[in-house]
Amino acid sequence: MTILRLFCVLAAVPVLTAQPRKSVLLITDAEGVAGVCRQDQTDPNNAELRALLTGEVNAAVDGFLDGGIEDVYVWDGHDGSATLSALTIHPKARLIIGGLGRTMTLERGYSAIGFLGQHAMAGVRAGIMAHSYSSLGIQNIRLNGKNVGEIETRAALAGHFHTPVIFLSGDRAAVEELKAIAPDAETVAVMEGLARHVCISLSAEMSRQAIRSAARRAAANISRCKPYRISGPVTIEIEYTTRNSLRLDAGHALGGEVLNDRTIRYRGADFLEAWTRARLW
Ligand SMILES: [Zn+2]
Repeated sequence: MTILRLFCVLAAVPVLTAQPRKSVLLITDAEGVAGVCRQDQTDPNNAELRALLTGEVNAAVDGFLDGGIEDVYVWDGHDGSATLSALTIHPKARLIIGGLGRTMTLERGYSAIGFLGQHAMAGVRAGIMAHSYSSLGIQNIRLNGKNVGEIETRAALAGHFHTPVIFLSGDRAAVEELKAIAPDAETVAVMEGLARHVCISLSAEMSRQAIRSAARRAAANISRCKPYRISGPVTIEIEYTTRNSLRLDAGHALGGEVLNDRTIRYRGADFLEAWTRARLW
């Protein structure tokens, strides 16, 4: 072996033994962004929403990078994935646009997930624009009999892939919802809801500062956060709104059982199977 070849072999060793890169998938929404309290502000074309959301996202990206995360993936999760732009997203972030299907790309093995701009589940008193996936279409979702929303179903999905939730920013009700299942996650309440469309909000500047600090702490403490795993067989019940009553053939849905005109219960051997059958993604 020539000196040159030996050098090449040795130079390759660190690459072969390298640790996986630290990464986070940040799931974004609109109703928990500071200053967003009215329904008209949630239109993806609303210029103020776009600026407020982008500012918070970029603050979170800065914090995650400061805290040692190497790859930050930001999913534009609000209403048709049309609110964020590659023109204004943090230069070092990767922007994910489009529907993510049943696994939300979690099989890629992120080190952690986070929520930004998050709202509480349907029916929570004083949750700002609280809903579970669809305010007009879905009254309630129950996971093993317990009312849940976007936070807990996505935390459970991430848990299925052994991925913890490390961060959430949103209104106070959303923060409390995550804290109940992931007490070690870093959270920022950027607004306090008084009623569905009545809020006390931080300024954009203050919310960005708080988000950046919390994201930095979250990135530095990933190992403290445990994945939220639902073990054993799972039922997911979807109670639709009256205007969204079950279709004629709902009784034939795989693993589904019609409970009444608006409610269907899906069973699965684990969370992912039940979730796939419920097709809420
Ligand atoms: Zn949402």
